[in-house]
Amino acid sequence: MKNKKSAGILSKKFFGKFILLASAAAITVSSLASCTVDEALTVADSLARRYYLEESAEPTQATETAPTEASTQTPTSEPVVQIEPDPTSADEPVEQPYYVSFAMPFLDKAHGGVDYRVTQSFSSTHGGLDIGVYWGTPILAATDGKVVYAYNDGDISSTSGDLRWTYGTFVVIESYDGVYRTYYAHMSRKAVNVGDVVKQGDTVGYSGNTGRVSSSSSGPYAGTHLHFEVRVWNGSSFIKQDPKLYLPWWN
Ligand SMILES: [Zn+2]
Repeated sequence: MKNKKSAGILSKKFFGKFILLASAAAITVSSLASCTVDEALTVADSLARRYYLEESAEPTQATETAPTEASTQTPTSEPVVQIEPDPTSADEPVEQPYYVSFAMPFLDKAHGGVDYRVTQSFSSTHGGLDIGVYWGTPILAATDGKVVYAYNDGDISSTSGDLRWTYGTFVVIESYDGVYRTYYAHMSRKAVNVGDVVKQGDTVGYSGNTGRVSSSSSGPYAGTHLHFEVRVWNGSSFIKQDPKLYLPWWN
């Protein structure tokens, strides 16, 4: 009876790992479109390792050898992976993996909000998505997370070297797993401060035209708009990715 119970717990853990792997793979695949192969591998490797952080106490090989197969396998030169007994008691809840989901950074008309127009897409020279919205539109957290940067217009100059151009008033949110950062720039006002914990959909500020924007309604820096970025941790730094890979409007 005790063994059966243990086997059940192990199966549950294996299943959890499979979900983790599948999740990491799915997110990785969606991140690859704009990367070179090397970058893609680095990002994939980083994501896989991050998703294994919670699992690091156990050998990853265990997922490849089911207990029933182990007993019937012919001996090989490779060491047989022993399944460690589950150290947790059956009454402890199984830890659930943390998933990062993305939502719209403001309410569009279909959801009771405002009209918008993408005025500039992601490219090698433009690391985010420019979305034209009316001045003062509430800007919403695209993911759960923690505020890691929150600056008012003028805090950082365009020549400080910190940024390639001025974001004006902007906020950066990092997902709980430390993999994703989302940037909300050119706002008229910020509504959060560094260290604040936000839930997806919380107001982080209000759209505006601070920083490097043009006064015209067209062109690369078109007047009032949200400059929205998604950056993904690759093991050593955060790499800008096309927000269209993540936002539900395009997925
Ligand atoms: Zn922009």
